[in-house]
Amino acid sequence: MLQQTTVAAVIPYFETFTRRWPDVAALATADEGEVMAAWAGLGYYARARNLIACAKTVAKSGGVFPDTEDALRALPGLGAYTAAAIAAIAFGRRAVVVDANVERVVARLFAIDEPLPKGKGAIREATDRLTPDSGAGDFAQAMMDLGSGICTSRNPRCLLCPLAQHCIGRASGKAELYPVKAAKKPRPERSGTAFWIERDGAVWLVRRSSKGMLGGMMALPDDGWTARVDGGGQPPIAGQWELAGRVEHVFTHFSLTLSLAIQKEVALGSLDPEQGQWWPLERLDEAGMPTLFAKAARLALARDES
Ligand code: SF4
Repeated sequence: MLQQTTVAAVIPYFETFTRRWPDVAALATADEGEVMAAWAGLGYYARARNLIACAKTVAKSGGVFPDTEDALRALPGLGAYTAAAIAAIAFGRRAVVVDANVERVVARLFAIDEPLPKGKGAIREATDRLTPDSGAGDFAQAMMDLGSGICTSRNPRCLLCPLAQHCIGRASGKAELYPVKAAKKPRPERSGTAFWIERDGAVWLVRRSSKGMLGGMMALPDDGWTARVDGGGQPPIAGQWELAGRVEHVFTHFSLTLSLAIQKEVALGSLDPEQGQWWPLERLDEAGMPTLFAKAARLALARDES
């Protein structure tokens, strides 16, 4: 949950989640739609799908997590950092743990000037050289704390730093320049349309395909926009569509302008029940739509009120 997300945003989700699915066995047998709905609003939905897949894998092997870095890395959703951190902190293994905080401390300590992401290799090698054979978990946590509390992105507090005497970045007087980052590419802009189809106090919702953006989430039907292409503008049914407005949403790799087209009192039977369901408007907040579609829904509902 904490990947790319602040602690403050995570806490209410974490509490709800662990109350509803208190252990691996519970999560492995959970209804996937309910899990996705409980995640709605937190973003980066691949994390929820990976969490379910990971729980199923662990449950199949007796409900016990593997205790080596390689075996942990093989679990769905666990990258190099998470696998190393669990191996070192939970299982006392020697593992090289590099998160963004450690990356910053080590890049400054050795004045590694190869820009990220290429420079990650040199930073990892340097961290490997520093990591002790025993107590690697304590070492990792100390480095993370140093990065978050002392060696901060801006205004590092070098006078308080236990590594100050050894720090080449500090000696150069340019510590803040590390880690060097490659120039950012401009974020692509995409456009698409979502369709609000209403009848008898209910709106037509679909479950998005489990593969791709916002996979497995409940949503308004749309025209097939992706991170790479604009939507084709094709509505799910013919009829008189009215443009209700637009919502802007920023994803990690692109930004999206989503137009909202509305059609009301459509004929019963004009939509295939295999493709979606009528969802009562008064319970719309229980559908667990991701933020993008929740914003579009608010736009449609605000229009009714005005
Ligand atoms: S001396 Fe300053 S720049 Fe170097 S690791 Fe410590 S806080 Fe960071």
